[in-house]
Amino acid sequence: MKILVPVKRVVDYNVKVRVKSDNTGVELANVKMSMNPFDEIAVEEAIRLKEAGKAEEIVVVSIGPKAAQETLRTGLAMGADRGILVVHDTETEPLAVAKVLKGVVEAETPDLVILGKQAIDDDCNQTGQMLAQLLGWSQGTFASKVAPEDGHISVTREIDGGLETVKLAMPAVVTSDLRLNEPRYATLPNIMKAKRKPIDEKTAGDYGVDMTPRLSTLRVEEPPKREAGIKVESVADLVGTLKEKGLI
Ligand code: AMP
Repeated sequence: MKILVPVKRVVDYNVKVRVKSDNTGVELANVKMSMNPFDEIAVEEAIRLKEAGKAEEIVVVSIGPKAAQETLRTGLAMGADRGILVVHDTETEPLAVAKVLKGVVEAETPDLVILGKQAIDDDCNQTGQMLAQLLGWSQGTFASKVAPEDGHISVTREIDGGLETVKLAMPAVVTSDLRLNEPRYATLPNIMKAKRKPIDEKTAGDYGVDMTPRLSTLRVEEPPKREAGIKVESVADLVGTLKEKGLI
């Protein structure tokens, strides 16, 4: 089995995101960038399948600026075999990404694509679903367990009422949820080894995809600041204060 894992370069989840002074977006200059956390989980799952003898090759792919090479190198240092960088300098939108990924899938013919369930910068949660639809493949989203069987893959999904297990015909698209696994840290020797692993460079045009954005951001604002609380002496005080403020 060959596995393709799309990985996005996003603002590191530890960074406190700041809005640009002209309210056109968030500040990206001199901000630490990392692999989207759900994509680390997707890479980890692919590596575990390879280690279990269920996959032979793992290809990581990123659509982003040249600096997204670092994101691919992180995936290679974790254990992926090679990378594909589709160079694109401005923000990406899920539909365009899904179209590029469809092109990559057609060129690479993987049996399984594991994506993150969502990118923590746009929080869209759309790309995996769109890709499955464009390919006409089965999909198992929000996976907390993945078990390939003969010609099928069994995916346990996190849903509102608990867990649901679906059996997907292969090839398939799976998106990773937080509880799927705990991604490993790359070791220094593997980071060194990853420097020699190949990364192919492509453009969206190579796959015939027009990346022109379909959405425009009108204005980005900080959420309202949380006001300081007050201390009340008793439950009666609390109820009185809530009533006064019209909250009950
Ligand atoms: P989204 O639909 O934007 O929330 O992203 C869901 C998943 O799609 C991410 O976790 C990635 O696996 C993949 N993805 C989205 N954008 C990109 C990108 N620019 N490059 C590579 N993978 C991406």
